[in-house]
Amino acid sequence: MIYPGHCHCGAIGFRFETALPVHAWSIRICECEFCRAHGALYTADPAGRVAFNAQIGNRPRRYLFASRTADFLFCENCGVYLGAMTEISGRYFAVLNVNTMRLADLPRPAHRSFEGESVEHRQERRQRTWTLVVNPL
Ligand SMILES: [Zn+2]
Repeated sequence: MIYPGHCHCGAIGFRFETALPVHAWSIRICECEFCRAHGALYTADPAGRVAFNAQIGNRPRRYLFASRTADFLFCENCGVYLGAMTEISGRYFAVLNVNTMRLADLPRPAHRSFEGESVEHRQERRQRTWTLVVNPL
């Protein structure tokens, strides 16, 4: 199944491909200050893939913080936060902000804190648990 997501104005979006039905998705709330400020609700499927897309002339704004190992992607026009993407050994992995997907009946989210995690462990975890990006923006 393919689940689309997009920002409010529609300039930036993605198509998330997963074999998992929505009720079986892993939904996560990250406890860091950035994610709490956005009320971000994440999902990923390491067996799935995601393709980002942007209307001509639009590119996401990128924000880096803390370990600076992931790009946090926003629409430059409407400001909606779409998710985070990281590059590991020439491949890209992402987590998606489920709030951009307009889905009902999501599973209850699990809270996660990654504070104090080393960069090495962080990237290893992301490679194992995030979704492969087939066309990074
Ligand atoms: Zn937008």
